[in-house]
Amino acid sequence: MKAEGGCYCGAVRYVVDGEPMLKAQCHCRECQYITGGAPNMFMAVPPDAFKYTKGTPKQFKRKDLERPVTREFCPDCGTHLVTKVPGLPAVVLKVGTFDDPALFNPQMAIYTIDKQVFHHVPEGLPAFERLPGR
Ligand SMILES: [Zn+2]
Ligand SMILES: [Zn+2]
Repeated sequence: MKAEGGCYCGAVRYVVDGEPMLKAQCHCRECQYITGGAPNMFMAVPPDAFKYTKGTPKQFKRKDLERPVTREFCPDCGTHLVTKVPGLPAVVLKVGTFDDPALFNPQMAIYTIDKQVFHHVPEGLPAFERLPGR
């Protein structure tokens, strides 16, 4: 898969060239904060399949968590692009930042334990209260 994307203002741009490891929608409470309330539509790709091509994102990590994720976002417009999970060799991309989000289709819904009544899970999509196999 090859795709390009970037933030709302265009200051930060990236390219993806590689096979996605996971395409999913996450209903967890944390994702609700960063999406505006909806599930987070994301694609995880191997780190070497991802490269920033313009600009430098700002990083944020919560200090009150033991193993916080690192969130990378545009320092100008604030668009959150990427999440890095400690111990997980992957770059987790928010698909709304792709130039063409239509290339995304979720394989599963995760963390439905935090699902709100206004969230939509497509019929037939495998859904997990947390992660598959846990
Ligand atoms: Zn921006
Ligand atoms: Zn989540």
